[in-house]
Parts: sequence; C-alpha cells; structure tokens
Amino acid sequence: MRPLQALIDTEALRHNYRLACRAAPGSRALAVLKANAYGHGALECARALSDLAPAFGVAAIEEALALREGGITQPIVLLEGFFEPGELELIAAQQLVCVVHSEWQLEALAEARVSAPIAVWLKCDSGMHRLGFTPEAVPDVWRRLNALPAVGECGLMTHFATADQPACALFDRQLTAVAGLRQALGEPPVCWANSPATLSRPTAHGDWVRPGIMLYGADPLTHANDLSSALQPVMTLESRLIAVRELAAGEPVGYGSRFVTERRTRLGVVACGYGDGYDRHAVDGTPVLVDGQRAALAGRVSMDMLIVDITGLPAAGVGSRVTLWGRAPDGTVLPVNEVAACCDTISYTLLTGVTARVPRRPW
Ligand code: PLP
Repeated sequence: MRPLQALIDTEALRHNYRLACRAAPGSRALAVLKANAYGHGALECARALSDLAPAFGVAAIEEALALREGGITQPIVLLEGFFEPGELELIAAQQLVCVVHSEWQLEALAEARVSAPIAVWLKCDSGMHRLGFTPEAVPDVWRRLNALPAVGECGLMTHFATADQPACALFDRQLTAVAGLRQALGEPPVCWANSPATLSRPTAHGDWVRPGIMLYGADPLTHANDLSSALQPVMTLESRLIAVRELAAGEPVGYGSRFVTERRTRLGVVACGYGDGYDRHAVDGTPVLVDGQRAALAGRVSMDMLIVDITGLPAAGVGSRVTLWGRAPDGTVLPVNEVAACCDTISYTLLTGVTARVPRRPW
C-alpha cells in the first residue's frame, strides 16, 4: 500500500465553521462544499457540519444530488447557476436553490411547470464581471422573478472579486452597488460574503455569508487578522520516506537536473507526486515536514514521488513520516498557503487538486 493519505480533521472543520459564525454573528453561514468540499470529501464534510450549518452550497447539480443521496436534508444552493431548463422539476423535487444570473434562466423559470416553487438567489454582477445582471437591470428582473409561479422565496446575491485585499476601491464599489439595491428592493434577504469578506468585512455580512476556503483552514486574507489566524487546517497530506541516499557535492537530482547538490547531501524520496495532486511547479526549497521538522524540496516533482533534502535531519530515515501540508503528529503546522506560494498558486488549487487515488481518511 502506498503510504500517502489525506487525513481529514472534521473537528477542525467544525471549529472553522464556528469561527465563521463568530465572525458574522448576525448572519447565517452557508457552508460551501463544491469541488468535493475543496477536495476534502463533500458528504463527509456535510455530515460533520449537519448539526451546525443551515444550508450548503455546491456548483453542480450532481454534487447536490450526491449529498441528497447521502441523507443531507438542508437546502442546497447551486451557487454557479449550472442547470438545464429540463432539470427544474428535479430541482424543485429535491428542494435545491437556484442562482439566477442570466436571461435564459428567467425564461426557463417562466415556462417551467414544477411541483413546488423553487427558491432563488438573484445574482447581481456588481463588478466582478463573471456572472449576474447589472445593478441597473436587477430591479426589473427582480419584479419579473417574483411574479413567476415557479419561483418561491427570492434573495439578492453578489460575489466579491477583491475581498481578500485590505483596502480596495472595487470592493467598496461592489458593496455600495448591492447595498443600494437592497434598499431599493425593500430589504430582501441578501447573501454577499465569501470567506475573506466573512473574516474581514462586517459591513458586507448581510443575512447569509458563504464561507468556503476558510472552513478548510486556509487563511484567505492577504493580511491575516485575529480571526483568520485562529483557523485550523482540516486536510493533512501525509506520506513517508520510501528511500534515502547520500550524494557528494555537484550531483544532479531528479528530472532535468534542476537541483544540483552544493555539498555532501542526504536525500529522502517521498511517496507523493503530481499524480497525487502535488503541484509540479513547486520550486526547490518548498517546505515539507519530516517527523515534524522542516526539510526542503530538491529537484522537480515526479508523477509518484518527490525528493527532499534531509541533510540536517540525521534521525530521518526510510519510514519517516512526511507532512506535505497540514499538521504533523507533533502538532507542527505547515500551512497549505505556504506550499501554494512556492508553487505560484493558491491554497484552493492545491486542496481541490488532490487526486482520487489519494485515500481520504479521518484524522
Ligand atoms: N460563493 C461563490 C459564488 C463562489 O464561487 C465561491 C468560491 O469560489 C464561494 C462563495 C466561496 O468562496 P471562498 O472559498 O473564497 O470562501
């Protein structure tokens, strides 16, 4: 058996969810579970949160149906509005909640004959320019939506492009646009805040917040605050050293000989590679923990293995436990954000990128 596994700490997930509730005390928190709960296992995460979270959010209808099949009864929001007109009866029967962002969806809802009204979040494009109606169009769309027999409760939603940055004119512009609309529409329920806005923008909390990445313990802010510093990692990607070798100075290591030893060097081979989702863009020096102690990536990541410099760790040997990110058994934490920075990417891509061949096991 390969020693690689992703250990999922559902107590940390619950801690992080409670932190979202503490950050936004006047709001309800919809837990975002899309992309297999950011790689952590959607059903396991939904079950772990089911006595805390009043609603969940996913991207695709298949993700929602898998949660229903697993016994999840809370409202599930199809956050990105992915549905076909022919799926509206299924959506109604399964009590899923639609995000409506385009005219074609309004037309589909106008023609739908469904067994129960569908709750809807009307999405306003307040400045991100991805999905949604312009602020100018929203009042008319709102009126039309509310007149449709297929439509039940309606709320107003938007998505922030820059809530992770401490001071940003676009964020202020987006919030001003939707706050004005909220008033003009007679104070309907609103849902605006992703993780960074939940953690750092109280004025944007509204009736619902939509935390995703923070639930999994990765700090989404460019400048951490007290709340974000209290997040706990949920996934620990863990493996072992499967081989150890010693090289003289001047020897090349790995594909393309990117790394060349500068001195006598002890290297450990770790059973984890890009075929498991570990990013091949990781630079030399990317940190790992070997038995809780820092060591550095040496050479290119291969499909099934990577190599680390363990010269400074004489006790390390075949079988030593390697933490690629998350929490080592001695409690030392290697934040996924730190690894992501060494790969020129973000925590979201590393966590969602852990491949299906890596078993997810309880912490
Ligand atoms: N809401 C929507 C519409 C999203 O697309 C996402 C994530 O991409 C989220 C909420 C959660 O965002 P985050 O993971 O930054 O909290």
